[in-house]
Amino acid sequence: MIRATTFNGQTVAVFGLGSSGIAAAKALVEGGAHVEAWDDGAAGREAAIRAGVPVLDLRAADWSRFSALVLAPGVPLTHPVPHWTVEKARAHGVEIIGDIEIFARERAARAGSAPFIAVTGTNGKSTTSALIGHILAFSGRDVQLGGNIGRAILTLDEPQRTRFYVVEMSSFQIDLTPTLSPTVGVMLNVTPDHLDRHGTIDRYAAIKERIVEGAEVAAVGIDDSFTLEMLKRRIERGAAIAFSAEKSIAPGYSILDGTIVCSNREGLAVKLGALDGIATLRGKHNAQNALAAVAAVRECLNWIGESSDLDWQGALSSFPGLPHRMEEIGRAGNAVFINDSKATNADSTEKALLSFPKNVFWIAGGRAKAGGIEPLAPYFGGITKAYLIGESAEDFAATLEGKVPFEMSGTLDAALTAATRDASEIGDTKSIVLLSPACASYDQFKNFEARGDSFRSLVAALPGIVMRRAAP
Ligand code: ADP
Repeated sequence: MIRATTFNGQTVAVFGLGSSGIAAAKALVEGGAHVEAWDDGAAGREAAIRAGVPVLDLRAADWSRFSALVLAPGVPLTHPVPHWTVEKARAHGVEIIGDIEIFARERAARAGSAPFIAVTGTNGKSTTSALIGHILAFSGRDVQLGGNIGRAILTLDEPQRTRFYVVEMSSFQIDLTPTLSPTVGVMLNVTPDHLDRHGTIDRYAAIKERIVEGAEVAAVGIDDSFTLEMLKRRIERGAAIAFSAEKSIAPGYSILDGTIVCSNREGLAVKLGALDGIATLRGKHNAQNALAAVAAVRECLNWIGESSDLDWQGALSSFPGLPHRMEEIGRAGNAVFINDSKATNADSTEKALLSFPKNVFWIAGGRAKAGGIEPLAPYFGGITKAYLIGESAEDFAATLEGKVPFEMSGTLDAALTAATRDASEIGDTKSIVLLSPACASYDQFKNFEARGDSFRSLVAALPGIVMRRAAP
């Protein structure tokens, strides 16, 4: 645990008692603060009490005593309307921060030079953060990975000069981290998302840009107009490096004949590692993630004066991937089974269909998002047959009618049985049995992880299956 020593002797309100809120409250107590924690929900309060956190009703509290409000990132700061704790804090001039701000202050106070790589973007944050963590661990570094991925940041080990921190950050978390100044700030991409919580795309992009502004070195993907503008603004002010999965760039990181290269201003390129054949980094979107990760690690090592000479190919090839994201889980005969349960909208499923362009036996459906699977029409040609499950089955059937053969499977179990039967009948050709639902899971499962886990267990029970080891 990282003790919040920078709040020693202060009185701090903590609101939002999920795992990160509870961790923040404990870190504050351990650091010597007086904590008053609360949640609107009884379940959060009870979990906090069980964890030994002091729970007090913040509605009745004297807010003039607080030096900070530590807010969970899921609690509305601005949109659609500020949460009542935010109103109270503002009325009393209490600063509002998140748990990553506490980490940032501890790092600054106790190990200012501890390398800190912060990652954001609309898509690919978790994959990129996990890959950065993997490359650093592969090269023998002491690395801690957390934030929006895996562990709450304050549950990581205490800051030390030689310890690397890789922190995935959502825009909500960035908004709650006023002194964010990572060694490397990674900006992957910006597309409309979560606008319900941020108001406009410009505001959303402006919040994300703070990761670039505050960084010692900014690593910026330039494959969309928002991030390209961010790079241009940054270049005027400090160290920056670009990466692109779309085109060859110099200076910067790009892909040349399937290999990640870093080119200098004169166009001289260093080859770092080929992506061809790496099952956990399939597709152009993963090329962007891999470029970001390689750029982040290499620029970080260069910045802190360590050698960036490492076995990049070995590091990339051994990446175990993340569960539920185009995860190859097993093979039976010529059929390859892919768990892409994380694909909860058409945008995500598009990445899978781009990565598997033919012989796809596609399991789709659940609780549909607006627009359904209409945007996927350009990829229908690669789908041999679709197996529809969940609430959206009728709507998806209407979209597929006359374009892709389909069957109304209803459940994941029935869909897998039918898809496996059909996939085994296409002879010697490699076939892909793909769960990429383009839907939320809540109509039939607790969440996308439960849906993916269920798919894995069903696949594991198929005759003749050879399973791959699960991603961590
Ligand atoms: P995040 O943490 O930002 O949600 P993940 O790494 O968990 O991102 O990937 C989630 C999904 O987003 C993937 O299954 C894939 O469909 C899509 N995706 C991943 N990386 C990218 C990228 N660089 N650009 C666009 N989409 C991506």
